[in-house]
Amino acid sequence: MVETKAMVLREFNKPLVLEEVEEPKYGSGEVLIKVEAAGVCGTDLKIQQGMVPTKELPLIPGHEVAGVVAATGAKVGRFREGDEVLVSFYIPCNNCRSCINGRQTICENLKGRIGFEFNGGFAEYVSVPEECLVLKPKEISFQQAAVIPDALATCYHALVKRAKVKKGDCIVIIGGGGGLGLHALQIARWLGAKVIGVDLSEEKLKLMRAYGAELVLDGQSAWSEAVYDYTRRGADHVVAFVYNEQSLEQGLKALCKGGQLVPVAYSPEYTFNALQAHLYEIDLLSTRAATKKDIEDCLSLVIQNKVETVIGEVLKMEALNQGLQLIKNGNLKGRLVIDVE
Ligand SMILES: [Zn+2]
Ligand SMILES: [Zn+2]
Repeated sequence: MVETKAMVLREFNKPLVLEEVEEPKYGSGEVLIKVEAAGVCGTDLKIQQGMVPTKELPLIPGHEVAGVVAATGAKVGRFREGDEVLVSFYIPCNNCRSCINGRQTICENLKGRIGFEFNGGFAEYVSVPEECLVLKPKEISFQQAAVIPDALATCYHALVKRAKVKKGDCIVIIGGGGGLGLHALQIARWLGAKVIGVDLSEEKLKLMRAYGAELVLDGQSAWSEAVYDYTRRGADHVVAFVYNEQSLEQGLKALCKGGQLVPVAYSPEYTFNALQAHLYEIDLLSTRAATKKDIEDCLSLVIQNKVETVIGEVLKMEALNQGLQLIKNGNLKGRLVIDVE
């Protein structure tokens, strides 16, 4: 048995444990990836807390993976040993009505997700179906690549595929200074929208300005009034990367008639003022992760320097628990990436 290292979640609400585990098996249609970098997100914190459906524990989380193909199954045709790749972590059927309509993250026969129902990338090795792989060009680093499948592509999916933000639109980004928000902000600018950023610290307001927000507002204030003063009619879209009642209430009030509320952050207890939504005919628009096509589109945006990946911190695999704490504290200035040696 070949042993390799991984961070294993054995019990909810307990730190993950660095363990020697058996090298992952891979089927005929799968590849074995030597992980080089893995992004960490708020969802990993939710997984640790048992708030997100996953396979039975133990689980190796980590769904934002970049690495090198180390071995291939007998039926793998498009990738070979040594290829540098990033991973689209949803494993759809590519055959159902959702998949045919390009909405693979709501696949009716979803086989699972890397890092949720299948072991993920907080490990030296992970096995992944060939159809989940995207070739990584040499000009971007593994750390940059690890930011693309979720921190960047989730924003792309929300703004481009779901909200259909267009040139001249005004968009408010709640939590715009965070690991997803700074990417959403850049995508909105690339689409030609005017961006109003909402966040909590002076540092995050500064960051949002640096990435192109026209107006930045303190999330603790009654900021919807400032949006109205600035736009004179309200915003076309409010995209929320944080969930709390106060920001949702402000977000709803900041919208124009016929505007769109896009909660990227979610909670089972989601309450909002349905009267206000009714009076303004607000569209409440949900969004789920990113498809492989979204990830490929984002990769080309990064290569063309239209959008840059924002890395807030890089830690070694054994420091993952400290990393999750950083996410919990909300002080990261970009995506947290685990550098796997
Ligand atoms: Zn994630
Ligand atoms: Zn499907």
